[in-house]
Amino acid sequence: MNLYMYEILEDYKFAKTEAKREEIFTSFSKLIWENPNTRKLVDKPITFHIKPKLLHTEIGQVFSAYTSISRTVCPSTTKDTDFASLIRQKANNLYTHFFDETICNRKPYLELLRLPKKLYFQWQASLQKEEITWTLSALELAQTLEHTLTKAQLLKETAAREKMALSWEEFIHITDGYFRKLFENYKPLEEYQDSEKLVLHAGAWNEDNYCIRYFCNGLDGYFKNYQKKYYGLYNASSGRGVTYGRCACGNLFLQNRQHNRKLCDACRRQARNSTYNRYNQKRKTSCH
Ligand SMILES: [Zn+2]
Repeated sequence: MNLYMYEILEDYKFAKTEAKREEIFTSFSKLIWENPNTRKLVDKPITFHIKPKLLHTEIGQVFSAYTSISRTVCPSTTKDTDFASLIRQKANNLYTHFFDETICNRKPYLELLRLPKKLYFQWQASLQKEEITWTLSALELAQTLEHTLTKAQLLKETAAREKMALSWEEFIHITDGYFRKLFENYKPLEEYQDSEKLVLHAGAWNEDNYCIRYFCNGLDGYFKNYQKKYYGLYNASSGRGVTYGRCACGNLFLQNRQHNRKLCDACRRQARNSTYNRYNQKRKTSCH
């Protein structure tokens, strides 16, 4: 049970029968998906306390509605260092990144959520200063904070539209397929060193780190390709020089640098149709 990952991969590579290979793969897959390092969504609100003596001021009252701002997160690291926990963590993170529309980890979004807290501390600090550093009235502050949270909500909705639809069960199935490819394409470290003439710092890397990294990088690549296929953009020969754009609807599209496109094909078609319909509508109404 306490096999190293490179041992599992080598056993698979050198297994004499297909049945044996199947058994090795199945038990690896089980180790990952039954690992206790499961995906957990937790509410980690952004909170602050208003000093009691400030609570009854006009501005303190405005801030009091924002002392706890709800935020859903999914832990992206683990303290465990065994390969199964680490690869499971990688899988969890990939699911969060590509498929979970409830999680938004974008920096601008987080900055907006943290703004009320930041402004509170600025205001509080300004009260202890001689010169005037705080210029917002209670009304202006209320408007600013309301606007900030509306903007955050819009950012979150945009991010959600950019996630692909895939259930966790389907994700496991697809990832298992990628694991299988990684098993098949595995090259032991010595072989890799020989063929690629890679200089390694002895000690800093061991065989398992090498395997874990190989799996993580491999999954990254497979899921990037999955995303391209999902949006109908996958082309094995394209790679360098290709840039992608995001449409407001969430679709990914190929960016054409000359035209600086803003809309995906579907939205472009729709926009064209609605212009055409408006034009037709006009024609009809002018006839009658
Ligand atoms: Zn679109």
